[in-house]
Amino acid sequence: MSLIHLFRRCDQRCVFCSYPADGGVEAGVSLKDWLKELAAMPPGLVQISGGEPLLAPAGDLRLLLAAVGRLGRTAELQTNAAAAAGMEPGELAALVKALNAADGYFNVNFPAATAGLDYETTRTRGAFRKRLAGVRRLMKAGARVRLTHVISSLNYRRLPNFAAFAVKKLGGVSWVQFSYIKGTGRGADPRFLPRYAEVRPFLERALLVCEKNGLRCEVDHVPPCFLGGFYRLNVDIVKMKEGLPGPHLEEKAHVPECGGCRYLSVCPGPRKDYIAVHGKL
Ligand code: SF4
Repeated sequence: MSLIHLFRRCDQRCVFCSYPADGGVEAGVSLKDWLKELAAMPPGLVQISGGEPLLAPAGDLRLLLAAVGRLGRTAELQTNAAAAAGMEPGELAALVKALNAADGYFNVNFPAATAGLDYETTRTRGAFRKRLAGVRRLMKAGARVRLTHVISSLNYRRLPNFAAFAVKKLGGVSWVQFSYIKGTGRGADPRFLPRYAEVRPFLERALLVCEKNGLRCEVDHVPPCFLGGFYRLNVDIVKMKEGLPGPHLEEKAHVPECGGCRYLSVCPGPRKDYIAVHGKL
């Protein structure tokens, strides 16, 4: 798995952004630089992120996706999808075609099921309406879409509502990932990091809603010991079983409470930034 940050520019100001815009001078912001970065990457999934990648020149983004496809690799285009609502139809179709040719999918940051909570989280007026329209347009154009719902102190009590919303209003998404906030970038503000124990009952109810309605889902950054019967949905388990390298090994570490845990060999532990805030599980 490799990650290309195209640039820092973004049209939202999410409270949990782990890579916030800083307005500073950016290196590697041209197609030539992105292609060079791609060529030097280890094999596997290519994650294309920003800032907001849909703000890149459309032709450059298509050429980058074409290069990923030529290498026989899969592209994950990370986006908040708001810009997709206003994209010219031909341009949108061409983007989806290029992504599909790279066996790719959109990974859409979708933080709320209501406009009010969306605004509280993204601090961007009108983003919810545009995002909903954008995702629907992408799916209608034939794209595969994954939703990423970042869990923070702002929204964890409403996780079951989000699951119901995804089932009812966004039928057709390929899967949903519930991902606990990373304590880096803007997300380093400890106010946004709820305790796993507080999140657990709401998350379990959300996962049950998904299960009952046949919506595929997974969980990242919440350890299996806080997932009850849904522990298999933790994405680190497969990586650990297969001995894959990756950020999960650097960002997480066991703590004294992990001693004797039945998941010890398949869980890298809680995020280090979580422990820095809360001191223990
Ligand atoms: S290893 Fe630690 S964090 Fe992971 S499931 Fe066990 S107790 Fe929880």
